[in-house]
Amino acid sequence: MAGTLVACGATQERTTPEQAGQEARERMLRGQIEARGVQDPRVLHAMRSVPRERFVPEAQRSQAYEDRPLPIGHGQTISQPFVVAAMTEALRPQPSDRVLEIGTGSGYQAAVLSLLVAHVYSIEIVPELALQARETLATQGYENVQVITGDGFRGLPDQAPFDGIIVTAAPAQVPPALIEQLAPGGRLVIPVGDWRQELRVLERGPSGIRETSLFPVRFVPMIGEAQQRPRSP
Ligand code: SAH
Repeated sequence: MAGTLVACGATQERTTPEQAGQEARERMLRGQIEARGVQDPRVLHAMRSVPRERFVPEAQRSQAYEDRPLPIGHGQTISQPFVVAAMTEALRPQPSDRVLEIGTGSGYQAAVLSLLVAHVYSIEIVPELALQARETLATQGYENVQVITGDGFRGLPDQAPFDGIIVTAAPAQVPPALIEQLAPGGRLVIPVGDWRQELRVLERGPSGIRETSLFPVRFVPMIGEAQQRPRSP
């Protein structure tokens, strides 16, 4: 019957959630990420591969690919896609790198990094978020990520030095331990400041630390020990 055939055809043409996600990612890449100048092909490929909708709460799923941060509970957010891409590119990730992330949140940034480097250590101070991220990352098959529950202000001395350190919560000043834990040639990408923050890159070169400033950002504040330090005027 014609009616049955139409229904059949419609079933075959229906896009699966996976296809819908892939199309949304393509639009995100073109409209938000490549359009704003992120060029590293490995970073673009990683951003194209990670299903961002899996890292946001159910209620936010339809907004997963929008050009903004989204709430993930406990007063925290998953960063805007462009910011994740730009920070990842600024880290200049290499396949043999060991990278430390401070602020696991949803685990999305860690998932993107895990496709680009050998191993990702990621520290999260809110135990419930650490637990949830660990579960999401495991379910999605990101096996080279280790989520550690704790305060990342002092880095992870046991596993230092790192080829890259990426910080996704803003302290008022750069925590000294994170600079100390950079390997030669290593890069630290970090938002710094109170209300007005800027994204900075610190690189350990042969003649010391070289610091550059990328662009203004707005991250949630780094909590824990970072907040017990005197703030900049
Ligand atoms: N990278 C995350 C976004 C993080 S939002 C993602 O991809 O989803 C910032 C996160 O940093 C929050 O989850 C917050 O709980 C965490 N955080 C804040 N201060 C911290 C600290 N001192 N140590 C570790 N994590 C911290």
